[in-house]
Amino acid sequence: MNTPPRLLPPLNGARNPGTTPAVTTPGSFALAPDVGGPLMFASPDTPGMPAPSDKTAWDFLPDGWSVQRWQSGEVTKWQSAQTANHSATLPLGHSATSFHSARGDLFRVTYPSSFTPITQLEHARLGIVTPQMRRVAEREPHFETLFPGKAAEAVRDEVAAGRMVIPANINHLKHNLDPMCIGRASRTKVNANMGASPVSSGTDEEVEKLKWAERWGADTVMDLSTGGDLDACRDAIIRNSTVPIGTVPIYSMIIGKKIEELDWPTIEASLHHQARQGVDYFTIHAGVRRAHLKHVKNRLIGIVSRGGSLLAKWMLVHNQENIMYTRWEEICGILRQYDVTFSIGDGLRPGGLADATDAAQIAELETLGELTERAWRKGVQVMIEGPGHVPFDQIEWNAKVQRTLCHGAPFYVLGPLVTDMFPGYDHITSCIGATAMAYHGAAMLCYVTPKEHLGLPKKDDVKQGCIAYKIAAHAADVALGIPGTRDRDDELTKARAALNWEKHFELSFDPDTARAYHDEDLDVDTDFCAMCGHDWCSVRISKEIQEFASGKAEGFERVGANGRAGAPVKSAALTPEQQEILAKRGVLSLDEIHKLASKTKKAMTGRVAERQSGKATDAASSHSATSPLDHSATSAKLSCHSDYVDPDTAKQLQEQRTAVVQLDVRPALGIAKEDRVV
Ligand code: SF4
Repeated sequence: MNTPPRLLPPLNGARNPGTTPAVTTPGSFALAPDVGGPLMFASPDTPGMPAPSDKTAWDFLPDGWSVQRWQSGEVTKWQSAQTANHSATLPLGHSATSFHSARGDLFRVTYPSSFTPITQLEHARLGIVTPQMRRVAEREPHFETLFPGKAAEAVRDEVAAGRMVIPANINHLKHNLDPMCIGRASRTKVNANMGASPVSSGTDEEVEKLKWAERWGADTVMDLSTGGDLDACRDAIIRNSTVPIGTVPIYSMIIGKKIEELDWPTIEASLHHQARQGVDYFTIHAGVRRAHLKHVKNRLIGIVSRGGSLLAKWMLVHNQENIMYTRWEEICGILRQYDVTFSIGDGLRPGGLADATDAAQIAELETLGELTERAWRKGVQVMIEGPGHVPFDQIEWNAKVQRTLCHGAPFYVLGPLVTDMFPGYDHITSCIGATAMAYHGAAMLCYVTPKEHLGLPKKDDVKQGCIAYKIAAHAADVALGIPGTRDRDDELTKARAALNWEKHFELSFDPDTARAYHDEDLDVDTDFCAMCGHDWCSVRISKEIQEFASGKAEGFERVGANGRAGAPVKSAALTPEQQEILAKRGVLSLDEIHKLASKTKKAMTGRVAERQSGKATDAASSHSATSPLDHSATSAKLSCHSDYVDPDTAKQLQEQRTAVVQLDVRPALGIAKEDRVV
């Protein structure tokens, strides 16, 4: 009898995030996409969550502007023609333009005739699709899936609503910037921080870190330099980057002086200078107000934001309101000239779990909402920075209260860390919080590296931070049901099921590490790996059950010489990078790594024979005099190696590595050695 399962998950409306029909996806808890509406890609609200704001950037237009809007169902051709030609009723000195949104709504915008758009927001408000919006639509293919033929218009609509930003300084566009977007209607983005400090690093090292961060998927980079030649470092980073660059301009404003000496001429000159250089977004901590400081005194760790603490000190010394707050409109005017995007700083973000979601943080967030409205009135793009350190149960509320107070402006969060007691592993503690924050509404995640709280990140820390955050961002995008985001996961699952190792590595985010880890234990391509071994390989056994066949799945068998299935084939040798990964791990000796990198079929067979005769190399004592990482020494062999062996040879090799292969657990479990699972 075919009994159906008693319980299946509900279908809440999110589309299958994969585009392949033949996958098993019984349900999704995310909401159906609402791109063009306030929810975009969103998690359902747990009871008690604040509702999304009913306002957007359209409600905060500059003086002299107005907009009329008819939803698609209300628009008739007659209305469209009438509204488009209604110039006779315009106020003196004003013009009007009409356009349809990707969802079919009709907008009629009235604006001063002398106005010339500069920022992406201003272009969007006039219905103009910029080249940067087109590029963003290309890079976010789900817009085409949701709005066929109108993908770039959908991007424009999100920018016009203030729910998406395209950080693209007009001066950075003259270099190598590849425009991207940040908003909850697009894929979740990752920012990598870097920058020289007074005690460590320099310009060349920072440019190298920039390239490294780009390689590992950083969507934007913040230069947080506080030491060395700040100007030269910033200039080099902007010229070399294809991703948007953000800075915290107050750092350079106080180099060589005390924070007390900060004044408007210094602020004005620094903002102009960095904007001219091409910085794409500025973190300005204008939300820290005098009235908020009383909320900080009972905190465990006070103010942990550098910008926030500096401006708090400035306010106390001068007994005045935050100068960034009082000069906000003038600051907006400078950013508008270059289309620099605001990343309005959270100077009072919590620095520990105990301080999360407290009065100081929320009072500042209310001010960030007010500053957002004022910036939109000046035509400037806005995103909002968020915490920091937040217990897991408070994350959804933090994301959703920002959505309410800041009217859907993109939320850019640092982590958050969900526990404070794992220094050295904060890329993990924060990646957990970042995944939840992105699922509940954050649009960009600022990475945290293993060096967080401990020192300046080095190259490998940058890689670890980027990868942890690519995992968080991707996991959230899959959960939110962004069309197409799961395709690569599904392809990798298919390759895994087919025991197709080459495809498995190729589809991995970090193929070098995947390949090196595989070859460390069993450096041959066969229908199992060293994790379980031949007899316990569930993928192989499952295939036997389902298809009464063993070995690799049909279509994925290795085809070698003369097109003969199972014949030896050439495949890539371990690259120097893969060798380096294995060398760092220290499991294999340098000599063994050298052999892996230069293996030939003859060498493989010889190695089995060598091991069988008891001449296997001792990993602990046989380091080669020649470095295995010296690629030139082995290149002649690398060009012609083959790693294919038949299953029996693979089993023999595996059994030689008893330290890592679990074949011998059967006696411990009281199972006879002859037993097989099937
Ligand atoms: S041996 Fe284990 S880990 Fe390796 S492919 Fe088979 S089931 Fe997967």
